[in-house]
Amino acid sequence: MDADETAWERRSVVRVVPPVEPRKLAKVPFVELADGRLQGVVSSGSDIERVYVSSIAAGTHALSCSTNNNRPCGALHGYACKHLRLLADEAVVQYGLDRVARYLRVEVPDGGSLMSCLKGQPERTPAAVVFSRFLRHLAYLEVPDSTEPLAELHWFPATRVVR
Ligand SMILES: [Zn+2]
Repeated sequence: MDADETAWERRSVVRVVPPVEPRKLAKVPFVELADGRLQGVVSSGSDIERVYVSSIAAGTHALSCSTNNNRPCGALHGYACKHLRLLADEAVVQYGLDRVARYLRVEVPDGGSLMSCLKGQPERTPAAVVFSRFLRHLAYLEVPDSTEPLAELHWFPATRVVR
């Protein structure tokens, strides 16, 4: 890889939180620690049109996985489906194991894996909230790097009250 290519790649990536290691965006396009959950969007392995919205609750470690139009994941029965495993793996890449474990309030022994330490039960969580956060995240990735104020942020009430 030459220097030009490296510079181009760096400029083309807009990061909200710099990942600890490079992430596989195609598999897990969105992962975040928010709303008391590790949550994110995972591509279906078999159908490129379909995505799963997966989450693990902090504290209870309740597991949730459904499609973006709220169909329950057929693979989540008492133990984590592969979407949840991919999500957990990607969260560790994005945030580092210590931070994810602290957020979920789980003890992971040295050399242990996050998922094997989670004993939560499946629980239905509406996919819509996570999915709309994902869409907003995508919208901001489209905005080129700039120090100018973003016009669309003026729609948020907080800004309008100030003026
Ligand atoms: Zn699943």
